[in-house]
Amino acid sequence: MLQKAHFWKREANLIGGEWVGADSGKTIDVVNPATGETIGTVPNAGKAETERAIAAAEKAFESFRKTTAAERAKLLRDLHDAIMDNQDPLAELLTMEQGKPLAESRGEVGMSAAYVLWFAEEARRVYGDMVPSPWADRRIMVTKQPVGVIAAITPWNFPSSMLSRKIGPAIAAGCTAVVKPATATPYSGLAWGALCQEVGIPDGVVNIVTGSAREIGGAIMESPVVKKVTFTGSTDVGKVLLKQAADTVKKVSMELGGNAPFLVFDDADIDRAVAGGIAAKYRNSGQTCVCTNRFYVQAGIYDRFAEKFAAAAKELKVGSGLEEGTQQGPLIDEGAVEKVEELIADAVDKGGNIVAGGKRHELGGSFFEPTVIAGATPDMRFSKEEIFGPVSPLFKFETEEEGIRLANDTDFGLACYFYTQDLGRTFRVSEALEYGLVGVNEGVITTEVAPFGGMKESGLGREGSKYGIDDYLEIKYVCIGGLGM
Ligand code: NAP
Repeated sequence: MLQKAHFWKREANLIGGEWVGADSGKTIDVVNPATGETIGTVPNAGKAETERAIAAAEKAFESFRKTTAAERAKLLRDLHDAIMDNQDPLAELLTMEQGKPLAESRGEVGMSAAYVLWFAEEARRVYGDMVPSPWADRRIMVTKQPVGVIAAITPWNFPSSMLSRKIGPAIAAGCTAVVKPATATPYSGLAWGALCQEVGIPDGVVNIVTGSAREIGGAIMESPVVKKVTFTGSTDVGKVLLKQAADTVKKVSMELGGNAPFLVFDDADIDRAVAGGIAAKYRNSGQTCVCTNRFYVQAGIYDRFAEKFAAAAKELKVGSGLEEGTQQGPLIDEGAVEKVEELIADAVDKGGNIVAGGKRHELGGSFFEPTVIAGATPDMRFSKEEIFGPVSPLFKFETEEEGIRLANDTDFGLACYFYTQDLGRTFRVSEALEYGLVGVNEGVITTEVAPFGGMKESGLGREGSKYGIDDYLEIKYVCIGGLGM
């Protein structure tokens, strides 16, 4: 059923099927980054509310674990339909709290629905095994069961689709969930609760709490009831959660930070590389974990690429995400702008040459010009740090080996991209790059059917694809003896 955006904007938490405020009555303002206006509030909940959410999830698990795969698949198909029926209002809500252009928000909401549908299908394919027995009178059966109560903690840059990769497989597997959306963008997360209710997902299966990250996170991590934590966010917070998970030996899935390289070889189709580079960098104003952080361009093509790329960056239309034709919205907040300014100042100090943008946009607020910096060198901060803003440093390299070495010279290993028309190089380079996702002649590669996740300090586990449900399942071996054979 189609509803307006304000219907989905829930200013309360969902615990055991009830929409409730914080015990203290305190709230947190939610701000539209394009205008600086407060668009509403959400509860500033903490430990006690989270413990009740965990208890509600534990209670719901008793019956939800007994539902059939077909029943859960139907709930997920209905959830998919409800999301798609409301794609426009949900996209509007997302743009209001997050800032990204409406077209990107519609794409994100569509992607959320696609993940849900994928896991509706996967729910029915959680097969076990009968293993050939080494004993004549025993049989060996392997089954898969839901892990139990899971907790999901998500970031502000994809407030809808990061949850679909977690709520989708959790429901498919028969788990129940406690969810904590990012404080900057809570409404897209809370909307999941309203959508779940709309399609009849039982009370307590999905519980959503907003407020103090430390208190909510602490209650989740110390609870022996929560069997698994799935986190998407920064590597720093991921490391804290990994340490906290040790005390109760929770399963963990970690989708953490990135430092994506984008290599352009001399033999690349330069126009395709420019278009792919723009998409891989400036989507969501550079605020995605798979956004290019470092462009490495081979010496023979460097000047031509830099010229065309800077020209394309200057063409991007910056504005409110709600305005038709906007290609780049504001950054999430003032802090993000200051970080981008610091990284640019550091690069200029060390000899970088700004060839596009370089400063705050004339629109003011947290709008920033799409920026390109030529002459980037390894001592500049952005060669190691995640920029998370619309800044493209262009580094030069000479040989294939050097390009690969520079691309891998980071603690991160989420996404990488390279452009070449040489088939041998395609295989050599894609096998040598230490990344979980590799785009060859493509700048945007996320899809629900392929595994998403990082190597090294970019994370643990994979989301989406046929692998994305594994982390929500326990494998059980049952030995049936005394068969009298
Ligand atoms: P963040 O600061 O790590 O926050 C992510 C989530 O963790 C938020 O909900 C945050 O709550 C919560 N949090 C913060 N401190 C916590 C604590 N001590 N205990 C429990 N929860 C805590 O990351 P962000 O700035 O929102 O997102 C940007 C980062 O996410 C980037 O590094 C990006 O690369 C990464 N990311 C990775 C992927 C991936 O799939 N690999 C996808 C998207 C983003 P509050 O909002 O209340 O602070």
